[in-house]
Amino acid sequence: MNIEKRLRKAKTQKLRLIVQLFFASASVVTGCKFILFVHSLEKGKFVSRPPGVEAFLPLSGLVGLKFWGVTGVINSIHPAAIFLLLTFMLMGLFLKRGFCSWVCPFGFLSEYLWKLGEKVFGKNLKLPRGLDYPLRSIKYIVLGLFLWDILFRMDVNALASFIYGPYNRAADIKMLLFFERISTFSFFVILSFVLFSIPIKNFWCRYLCPYGALVGFLSMFSPMKIKRNISTCIDCKLCTEACPSSIKVHLAKTVYSDECNACFRCVDACPVPDTLYMKLGKKRVSPFAYAVLLLALFFLVTGVVRLKGYWYNSITRKEYKYIIKHIDDPEFSHRSGSQ
Ligand code: SF4
Ligand code: SF4
Repeated sequence: MNIEKRLRKAKTQKLRLIVQLFFASASVVTGCKFILFVHSLEKGKFVSRPPGVEAFLPLSGLVGLKFWGVTGVINSIHPAAIFLLLTFMLMGLFLKRGFCSWVCPFGFLSEYLWKLGEKVFGKNLKLPRGLDYPLRSIKYIVLGLFLWDILFRMDVNALASFIYGPYNRAADIKMLLFFERISTFSFFVILSFVLFSIPIKNFWCRYLCPYGALVGFLSMFSPMKIKRNISTCIDCKLCTEACPSSIKVHLAKTVYSDECNACFRCVDACPVPDTLYMKLGKKRVSPFAYAVLLLALFFLVTGVVRLKGYWYNSITRKEYKYIIKHIDDPEFSHRSGSQ
């Protein structure tokens, strides 16, 4: 049987799809609520704003995280951005790069785009090593530039002037308007990412996403790893064939790669029981336990943050009405601080 057909029937992959659908639906609902919020402001009304939209403000989250570390103050402009970024970083640190293959809606979209490509063309395009390696470093270069700027160049005054400045206050609304008023150039750039994602597996996640780079970097320190029992392995290479990250699983005793996104496809593809598994220290982790841990981490952090009152921001209705009226003024276009 074709490997994709077998994987479609595997319980773990069905479980992963359910979790992916949950987070993708939550993102769509959050996006729709946010659109309603912005358009209600334009009409002078006020529909409540979903704080979850701040998952898409990673820079605000990173600046806020450093500001919290340096001053002990959790800023009230985009507090959810800090805790969502922190949750995803913790996922990387403890649960490999599972954020990309279980949680992220762009990872979900990428996966189904390459599956579409495989259906249409019969197989996906594998870039030669000489091109794959330099392309993979792009996401780390982009991440490195942001980290350098925020962690090493911005002092506490620059951090505060960015966080409390008009650009950051309006960042979520500007993000929405970027898509609603998309320029021809940006449209074709995004379209090209979508088109490249059809023949090339996880094009965006593998080569360009700085979020993936951050989680991937942290995942190298994760105690959770895919392991192969070399004494029972029959060297059929089905694991390597199933791996969307082009990892040579059949040659590894332990998969250390930053590209391993904990999708369990290799485990499901392996025909010999107990030969491939996820391990945390000396304990094996079943896919179900993995999903429970991932969801528990997400709901624990976001739940505590809600209970402690750090989920909602402090920007008032009056201020939002001012922002929407003046969103095209230069005061909302320039970043303060050293950025
Ligand atoms: S090594 Fe296994 S778990 Fe990791 S990305 Fe490849 S198929 Fe998924
Ligand atoms: S699929 Fe299993 S048996 Fe086949 S090469 Fe991989 S680990 Fe070995």
